[in-house]
Amino acid sequence: MLLGATGVAATAVLLEGCSTTQRPDRATTGRVAVVGAGLSGLAAALALRGAGWEVVVLEARDRVGGRVHTLYQPFTDGLHVEAGGESIDDNHDQIQALARHYRLALAHRPADKLENAAVYGGGRRSVLSAFAAADAGSLAGYAKFSNALIEMAGNLDPAHPELASQAERWDRQSLQDFAGTQTLDAGAELLVQSDYRGNYNAQFDQVSLLFVLQQSVADEALPEAGVETMRIAAGNSALPEAMARDLGTAVRLDSPVTKIEQHSWGVRVTAGSGTGGANTVDAARLVLAVPPPALRAVSFDPPLSPEVAAMIDELDLGHALKVSTQYDRRFWLSEGLSGFTITDLPFGVGWDATDSTPGGPERPGVLTQFVTGNAAKAGAALGDRTRIASFQRQLDVVYPEGRQEKSAIATTMAWTDERYTGGGYAVYAPGQMTRFWPLLRRAHGAIWFAGEHTETLAGYMESAVRSGHRVAASIGPAPR
Ligand SMILES: Cc1cc2nc3c(=O)[nH]c(=O)nc-3n(C[C@H](O)[C@H](O)[C@H](O)COP(=O)(O)OP(=O)(O)OC[C@H]3O[C@@H](n4cnc5c(N)ncnc54)[C@H](O)[C@@H]3O)c2cc1C
Repeated sequence: MLLGATGVAATAVLLEGCSTTQRPDRATTGRVAVVGAGLSGLAAALALRGAGWEVVVLEARDRVGGRVHTLYQPFTDGLHVEAGGESIDDNHDQIQALARHYRLALAHRPADKLENAAVYGGGRRSVLSAFAAADAGSLAGYAKFSNALIEMAGNLDPAHPELASQAERWDRQSLQDFAGTQTLDAGAELLVQSDYRGNYNAQFDQVSLLFVLQQSVADEALPEAGVETMRIAAGNSALPEAMARDLGTAVRLDSPVTKIEQHSWGVRVTAGSGTGGANTVDAARLVLAVPPPALRAVSFDPPLSPEVAAMIDELDLGHALKVSTQYDRRFWLSEGLSGFTITDLPFGVGWDATDSTPGGPERPGVLTQFVTGNAAKAGAALGDRTRIASFQRQLDVVYPEGRQEKSAIATTMAWTDERYTGGGYAVYAPGQMTRFWPLLRRAHGAIWFAGEHTETLAGYMESAVRSGHRVAASIGPAPR
């Protein structure tokens, strides 16, 4: 039985500010509806349940996890790859706590993955450690660039970037404007471009400088620790799946939300059901744990304020796609390389997607290319087969010796094409931070926004979990 349909009174009453005439069911006052069963929605739902609320989680897809999506097929030898959120940093404590809670083992990636990365630039390949030794300015220039951002941010509060004394000015500028003030040698330029483009899923001129400053400060505030050090051994999807199992029948798959009505008593959420019908859920509070592009297909009655509607219409995610190719042998290991790859080719960066699973050079392994910005936008427009072939050709340029080892097994996922996501992760374009950030961080009537894009440290699985917890704390305990 659908919760929203339980106990709905037959008598029609006209409720303030809305077009429907049905009364809410009696349990509405103690219920929160959560739209989206990504990590943010699931974390919010679990925390709200802990605070005494009844929760209903409506998920559009036929699976939970959203941008956390482990692909077990078509890979062989028990290998799997992460199509979306992949690595966990040492200082990402809330996601690690969840993994521990659900007894999910974390598998570590090699500590030397960056040191032994292949750097391909100007038609030449070298190992990062040798590249840095030969070009002392490269790593130093990269560090100088990052430090200059921290220095510029000064005492900016990442929770309130819009209140920084130069907020408006920095928000009008882009990362490109900042980069134009820095002098970098070719080696440092390669490292800065590939790292920052990957971090923000976007070209430098598409990112608000204020957003970059906020992220730099939020990152700096974390304890110094290893980055991208681990994955969930069974596949990252095991975490949202465990959270959803814990929530039980509260999670409803195949339920794309299409309409949200705000009433004097709360919200009525209408979701299409996989079986063709529609169902409604009445709730006292609503958490929208959905990225803005996916919210564009949802209608609001009464309409949201023009500012919030503009946020939903205009705030995009950056472009991101992955291509993962299985090789018969992890040939890179026998050459002392880690598989981590930094290039000036369109794909930018890549790594060994199987470096947290046991296996030496003679075992099959997978190289993943992580493509962002304009290259991902162009790549998303290609069909899967063409995209795979196109990016594999670039990988062949970096690793000509790998051509013989390449199997026919490969996958790709272009997140820009995913209707329930719309891109990789948050990127605030110039001018958007001061307009949209404060709106995302407060309640609008009975509605709260959650998701990685609402968090001071954006773009991570950790961000999604934190946002869910923050919103649940802000909603507070259920009424007695
Ligand atoms: C390619 C890529 C690589 C990444 N790499 C990393 C990494 O290495 N480390 C890291 O920590 N993070 C990484 N991330 C980021 C991380 O995956 C995300 O920050 C996080 O998973 C976002 O969770 P979320 O809950 O905010 O959003 P989502 O996971 O997008 O969840 C939103 C949910 O809402 C659902 N939904 C949408 N519309 C509707 C609707 N109308 N009705 C009902 N449900 C709806 C969606 O189906 C989805 O399940 C990566 C992301 C991508 C795309």
